[in-house]
Amino acid sequence: MDRVKIVKYSPWLVHFNTGACNGCDIEVLAAITPHYDPERFGVKLAPSVRHGDVLIVTGAVTKKAGERLKRLYEQMPEPKFVVAVGACACSGGVFSGSYSVLAGADKVVKVDMYIPGCPPRPEAILDGIVKLLKKLDGGEGGEGGDGKPSGSA
Ligand code: SF4
Repeated sequence: MDRVKIVKYSPWLVHFNTGACNGCDIEVLAAITPHYDPERFGVKLAPSVRHGDVLIVTGAVTKKAGERLKRLYEQMPEPKFVVAVGACACSGGVFSGSYSVLAGADKVVKVDMYIPGCPPRPEAILDGIVKLLKKLDGGEGGEGGDGKPSGSA
């Protein structure tokens, strides 16, 4: 079985907070609890970054965290995907333009799915991950077909 199929049926998540206020982190943690049953999509937390398939980024990317984000990403095996969760990870949000902030995760790594909201609800986070998996099939992506939100994040 090729690696893309493995990711499609069992995407293991790596979660990294690049400067979030913890609002998005709490929603990500809620999304992986049995209450939302993420394992029906094969979604679970990876035991280490070297086993991760999908990097979940929360928070505006600070200059310091940007280096760590790049290093984490490089340690993940191919194929790998990045999901930006929340307005801050999508674009820098209210922290955009701050002296210590680079802006969204896409300033450092290629983002495959953007999930806007401040913070997005657990259902929206799971929905974004499922849309990413559909994209692996060549199926429908997120809003706009490229995973990018249609409005400003
Ligand atoms: S999008 Fe909102 S909840 Fe998420 S890290 Fe930014 S300020 Fe916090």
